[in-house]
Amino acid sequence: MKLIKNMALPNTMGLASCAEFGCLLKQSDDVLAAQEYARRRDLPFYVIGAGSNIVPMPIVRGVVGVMAIEALLVVGEQGADLQLEVGAGQNWHELVLYCAEQNWFGIENLALIPGSVGAAPVQNIGAYGVEFADVVDAVQVIDGDGNVFWLGRDECAFAYRRSRFQGSREEIIIAVRLNLSKAAHIKIDYPDLANHFQGHLNLTAQQIVTAVIAIRSAKLPDPVVFPNVGSFFKNPIIDRSRIAHFEELGLSVFRTQAGAKLSAAQLIDKCGWKEKQTGHVRCWPKQPLVLVNHGATEAAHIFEFASDVRASVAKDFAIQLEIEPSVLS
Ligand SMILES: Cc1cc2nc3c(=O)[nH]c(=O)nc-3n(C[C@H](O)[C@H](O)[C@H](O)COP(=O)(O)OP(=O)(O)OC[C@H]3O[C@@H](n4cnc5c(N)ncnc54)[C@H](O)[C@@H]3O)c2cc1C
Repeated sequence: MKLIKNMALPNTMGLASCAEFGCLLKQSDDVLAAQEYARRRDLPFYVIGAGSNIVPMPIVRGVVGVMAIEALLVVGEQGADLQLEVGAGQNWHELVLYCAEQNWFGIENLALIPGSVGAAPVQNIGAYGVEFADVVDAVQVIDGDGNVFWLGRDECAFAYRRSRFQGSREEIIIAVRLNLSKAAHIKIDYPDLANHFQGHLNLTAQQIVTAVIAIRSAKLPDPVVFPNVGSFFKNPIIDRSRIAHFEELGLSVFRTQAGAKLSAAQLIDKCGWKEKQTGHVRCWPKQPLVLVNHGATEAAHIFEFASDVRASVAKDFAIQLEIEPSVLS
């Protein structure tokens, strides 16, 4: 493990940021070594993946490890069921493509989500009616004392864009074990997918991946061209007693297992932010939940814009939008 002073941090928001000390974590021993280095100097220690869900400050104090552990192994097979163990440094979308090529079902709806496999449990990534929690069997971590162990799905406290790993910087994810299937278990009831397939049910994993890529590409900005971190705010979960109020206002209320959910994009749109640009930041018109950076170099500029959006949603709807990406300082 090689420590680099003032290491530039990858981030899809296009911000200039460097860590006091940075390193690549290619194996679990690298995590232990970086952790130990930080502990001896009383510095904070963070691990990131591809930086597609972080807003880093210009200087991040402490040691930042970029997860790069690669592994991909079938560890169990029974009938149509399949268990796959994957290193935390693998690219998530490449994993989805690989599984679709084998016609293994489970993660096809999660195509084109940027980032690493190790970050997927952190915010329980989800899209088009499927969440990481639906397919995970266990997550392997290294805790703050250097112990390595597996946590079963029920121990991870998964909920809508949440898990036990959020905010705890103590547990570093080094691998995940997924439950996949060679038999078709398709989930295409999400409106965009249902429209796309028009009742066709005999589908391959590859066909679903191709559809998800097409739908997402038409709607979301490519972070390489338009820097962004995907959804900047979480969809707010409301108390059931408020459902009627929001429906009377003409807003969509989605009843999910997690509770009644409003569309943050719709709230932002209703507040008139869809076409507005302040400074170098604006909402993406086709999906106003995504804030796009058009030349801001520091996180502060992004937060100024985000706090204006939050303030107007709070004023008009009495809803406090919660920020989705992690802030690294
Ligand atoms: C264009 C675009 C579209 C997106 N669409 C979606 C979407 O549809 N659904 C969705 O859920 N998300 C979406 N995202 C958000 C993002 O892709 C996911 O959150 C992804 O899992 C982040 O992966 P990463 O490797 O880039 O994580 P990072 O941004 O590097 O890290 C995110 C957080 O996870 C922590 N972390 C990362 N790796 C580890 C590890 N190994 N151990 C412990 N903690 C770790 C970091 O400290 C940080 O707090 C989108 C982002 C973009 C830019």
